[in-house]
Amino acid sequence: MREIRFYVNEKGCYICTSHFKGVIARRLMKKKFGWKALEDKFVLHSCDDERCINTDHLRVGTHQENMEDKVERNRCEIMRFSPFIRDKINELKKEQENLSCKGIATILGVPEPWVNLTLTGSIN
Ligand SMILES: [Zn+2]
Repeated sequence: MREIRFYVNEKGCYICTSHFKGVIARRLMKKKFGWKALEDKFVLHSCDDERCINTDHLRVGTHQENMEDKVERNRCEIMRFSPFIRDKINELKKEQENLSCKGIATILGVPEPWVNLTLTGSIN
């Protein structure tokens, strides 16, 4: 196995620089909780940084929780850019009712989940 390299950021995250995001996090969680606990489960980051390998920032969760985390993360992203982006999305949708979420995302240059989330309150 390759040497694990990481640095500690201001939030106390161990940011992994030597491996693909998630790989080491999963391996460490398996070590901590056992293979069985990780079966069919996802490693979730309470710090929202997928490169983080600090097991104090990680927890084991289901696919559902993983999706909810993603929705929540996108909600945070939208909040950061709001209300400008949300207004723009709603404006476009009003002007062109048939415009798809993908179309709106392309026009505004924002991630498609933001559009979904703004218009429907969910990511799908
Ligand atoms: Zn972290």
